[in-house]
Amino acid sequence: MPGFELFGQEERDEVEEVLETGVLMRYGFDAARKDRWKARSFEQMLAKRLGVAHCHLVGSGTAALDVALNACGIGAGDEVIVPPFTFVATFEAILKAGAVPVFAEIDDTLCLDPSAVEAAITEKTRAVMPVHMCGAMARIDQLQHLCQQRGLTLIEDACQALGGTFHGKALGTFGLAGCFSFDPVKTITCGEGGAVVTDDARVYELAQAYADHGHDHIGNDRGLEKHPILGTNHRISELNAAVGVAQLRKLDTILQIQRSRKQILVSALSAVDGVRFRTIPDEAGDTATFLTFFLPDEERARKAAAALPEAGVDGCFYWFDNNWHYIRSWDHLKRFSSPAKLPVQLLSERPDYRRLALPQSDAVMGRAVSMLIKLGWSETETQERAEKTVEVLRGIL
Ligand SMILES: *Cc1c(COP(=O)(O)O)cnc(C)c1O
Repeated sequence: MPGFELFGQEERDEVEEVLETGVLMRYGFDAARKDRWKARSFEQMLAKRLGVAHCHLVGSGTAALDVALNACGIGAGDEVIVPPFTFVATFEAILKAGAVPVFAEIDDTLCLDPSAVEAAITEKTRAVMPVHMCGAMARIDQLQHLCQQRGLTLIEDACQALGGTFHGKALGTFGLAGCFSFDPVKTITCGEGGAVVTDDARVYELAQAYADHGHDHIGNDRGLEKHPILGTNHRISELNAAVGVAQLRKLDTILQIQRSRKQILVSALSAVDGVRFRTIPDEAGDTATFLTFFLPDEERARKAAAALPEAGVDGCFYWFDNNWHYIRSWDHLKRFSSPAKLPVQLLSERPDYRRLALPQSDAVMGRAVSMLIKLGWSETETQERAEKTVEVLRGIL
């Protein structure tokens, strides 16, 4: 699953090129850097790979979300519709922007249910942020259509879905902006890193300025650059970008391995009555970082999630109980527990997430078991895992 599994000489060579010049910053030092621009190269490569006009590389996926919200003009008091199954960074970035996360139900895609999104729209709604979870897509065409109809900004959290497509179009390129993460456990890694992509020249201008204290990046003297907007520092270092350059070249290999291993698991599990796979709106565009399936009820899903590791099938996740990814365990959000005062706490009608009921999402997540797909597994090992999995599931069903 993660790019670090294929970490090798290629990454070392790229990093070495940066170390040779000693220029660790992505901007400036033109003479000393011997024309080595790792962040810039990565951005050009990724934009080309995704078929998008602009890409800006930042320090993390969380930073990418912050930059995207800011560059798209989402801020104080705006409501942003998000799914309750994601990584905590999604709502952290929205809260930090001063905006309000509004949770809508997911369906058996494990992503936002378009009709639930529509029902959650109020006069304060400004944006919808679908999250393409576990490597596969939301019903992105329907969400895009809904946003267009209702005049809402679509920002995709594609942090877990690099390389995924929907009918041939890259995930992350359907809205005004898309966000990716290259943290150590993502499909490819920079060590830490993230990216914002957009086809909109204005959003790109704002994004790259905001991520570097509002610098306009015009001219070749950083000290003389102007600051058209207020910003912050979300820069990535050249060392991290260098790792990413080598990793990005491996993306197609990574996807190909994952897809072939997933196919082995799917073939085996298809023969088990009572197992239903996650709905993937376009199977061909799945990155296959995970295989997720549903059992008939929560009780049997829990049993399976416990029995699989006991039978030697590691890397299984029961997200319903997970602290990072499902709203049930986000007590810090429910209490707005923050050392500083969050903008949302100043709202007279602030949401009470403790009272939020998401029965449809609970029903989906309660029955779901995910298995990660490792790059390191040989075909034979994957086949063995598949057989063990079938055996365990037959014992439960
Ligand atoms: C990983 C992740 C992020 C945050 O990325 P970092 O690089 O770890 O900051 C945001 N959203 C989702 C869905 C993620 O999986």
